[in-house]
Amino acid sequence: MKLNFVNSMILMKKCVVCGKYTIKQGSCPYCGGEIASPHPPKFSPEDKYAKYRRKLLYS
Ligand SMILES: [Zn+2]
Repeated sequence: MKLNFVNSMILMKKCVVCGKYTIKQGSCPYCGGEIASPHPPKFSPEDKYAKYRRKLLYS
């Protein structure tokens, strides 16, 4: 059960415009925006803020 959940999460894409999750490929079914895998850190807003936090710490 847990493994099936993980597999479905890997297939999930996240809209970069409205932030909704979809398994649709190509564009967001809600707003037509660009969708991307939520896993690469470059698309994660949390990672972006973490980078800013690191910058603040070391500057
Ligand atoms: Zn969208």
